[in-house]
Amino acid sequence: MSVLENLGWVRERISAAALRSGRGQEMIRVVAVSKNMGVDLIKEAFACGVASFGENRAQELLEKYPQLPPELEWHFIGHLQTNKVKKVLGLISLVHSLDRWSLAEEMHRAASETGRKVQALVQVNVAGEESKYGVSPAEAEDFVAEVNNLRGIQLRGLMTIAPECDDAEDVRYVFRQARELSRRLEERIQGLKMEYLSMGMSGDFEVAVEEGANILRLGTAVFGKRLQA
Ligand SMILES: *Cc1c(COP(=O)(O)O)cnc(C)c1O
Repeated sequence: MSVLENLGWVRERISAAALRSGRGQEMIRVVAVSKNMGVDLIKEAFACGVASFGENRAQELLEKYPQLPPELEWHFIGHLQTNKVKKVLGLISLVHSLDRWSLAEEMHRAASETGRKVQALVQVNVAGEESKYGVSPAEAEDFVAEVNNLRGIQLRGLMTIAPECDDAEDVRYVFRQARELSRRLEERIQGLKMEYLSMGMSGDFEVAVEEGANILRLGTAVFGKRLQA
């Protein structure tokens, strides 16, 4: 299947799931996860109308960035080392993976030097998986409240990654808890606006949409299978 065919299929599924959640598909943004994908495939997706691309390694982003048109919007979706923040911050329109205080401090410092705010989502480890980064739901309120006080960061919402599973129904609770947490944080923290819920990947995006996701991070569903994980 070509990227164009994949996108057609993806857009149909999103549209149907959006209707089930009482929304239109235009309320749901797709970030095409282009890790391990070559620049030609990324150009192909861009030509098919995909505007946003997600990378999870700073080095890979730095290599691809100069080879692609400046109109592309880049999202950072992986664990970001603090020593890479200054190098990539200017290239990224949204960081999905603000997962610890030291990263928040570094982003704030780097942003303050440029006078611009970093747009960021806090990554929450809803399922409590050892292998995943992110703040726990229990820590989330204190963490978000403190980050919200940093002038260099503009908090836009939450991101979560559901555990791998064969049946997406098994992780519906993860998406639901993330949405409820987001709502609760907005109620409790003054001046906080949680616009975005970044959740849903190729294997579970329809359930994520039904539970309120408005940013999907889709790799294999858009590009086909990656050669390396
Ligand atoms: C790789 C990756 C994705 C995309 O995974 P697919 O299953 O290929 O859609 C989404 N989010 C994060 C954080 C990733 O690392």
